[in-house]
Amino acid sequence: MYDFSYHKPASLDEAASLISGRDDVKLLAGGMSLIPALKLRLATYSDLVDLGAIDALKGIRREGNTLVIGAMTPHAEVVASAEVERAIPALAELAGGIGDPLVRNRGTMGGSIANADPAADYPASVLGLAATVVTNRREIAADQFFLGLFETALKPGEIITAVRFPIPEAAAYCKFPQPASRFALAGVFVAKTAGGVRVAVTGAGPSVFRFKEAEAALAKKFDPAALDGIEVRPDGLNSDIHASAEYRASCVVVLARRAVMKAREAGAR
Ligand SMILES: Cc1cc2nc3c(=O)[nH]c(=O)nc-3n(C[C@H](O)[C@H](O)[C@H](O)COP(=O)(O)OP(=O)(O)OC[C@H]3O[C@@H](n4cnc5c(N)ncnc54)[C@H](O)[C@@H]3O)c2cc1C
Repeated sequence: MYDFSYHKPASLDEAASLISGRDDVKLLAGGMSLIPALKLRLATYSDLVDLGAIDALKGIRREGNTLVIGAMTPHAEVVASAEVERAIPALAELAGGIGDPLVRNRGTMGGSIANADPAADYPASVLGLAATVVTNRREIAADQFFLGLFETALKPGEIITAVRFPIPEAAAYCKFPQPASRFALAGVFVAKTAGGVRVAVTGAGPSVFRFKEAEAALAKKFDPAALDGIEVRPDGLNSDIHASAEYRASCVVVLARRAVMKAREAGAR
């Protein structure tokens, strides 16, 4: 790791001014992705701005029909939150399947979605629930947030402050985890709302994406059988030592069925 200067501002304004106009300064959340990258010298920055002392970025609250999760909220807090369990239990379950206890205690909502790892779990919930990413400058709809491999709509100097999740009628997440890291070889988040059905897929492609053919079929009948005959084409999907594109394509359909079944069971409770 190369040397850097470390800052721990107590306010969002202070953090924003520390990174403003500087491309050699990086925000630090739990450090779960950033610190290994620095240690391996895959990246180097002159300054790191730790967001850990900014209380406004922490916590979980319900606002009407929306669940708001602060950017610096660690995954373990989402797992343990009674508010999340009441509003969107699928989100608590998803967070509980991330990595291991250390990762869940250090890793954050904001860090996960800013990083936009193609195999990360939260992006599937953000896209599947049509959430809104709130930054210190604007609000970004999930459909406009994830742009590609490790690429988001965030502009230089922009800080995620929270994510607003609309509360669905029913939702579920199913993933096939890579056994060592628990990242998703493929993961599918299904959400049923008054406005329709959304199906978001992570792990399978270079970035999280919507499975629109499944959405259309499930909007007619929210039942695993509605997915009969629907396939995902492997073209453009990820292929690596863990799974081929063809395998991931077939996983997506299986996981989508399972998620619908799970969401139906959860909705019936
Ligand atoms: C061993 C291991 C296993 C893992 N397994 C899984 C898994 O199964 N599923 C899964 O989804 N994830 C997994 N992760 C990822 C983990 O959950 C973290 O969410 C992810 O690494 C980001 O970490 P962080 O929140 O500590 O952010 P950091 O590493 O501190 O930052 C990541 C990036 O986000 C930027 N950033 C951070 N906060 C903000 C903000 N508020 N606004 C704008 N930019 C910001 C940083 O500048 C940096 O570029 C794993 C990680 C590890 C190390």
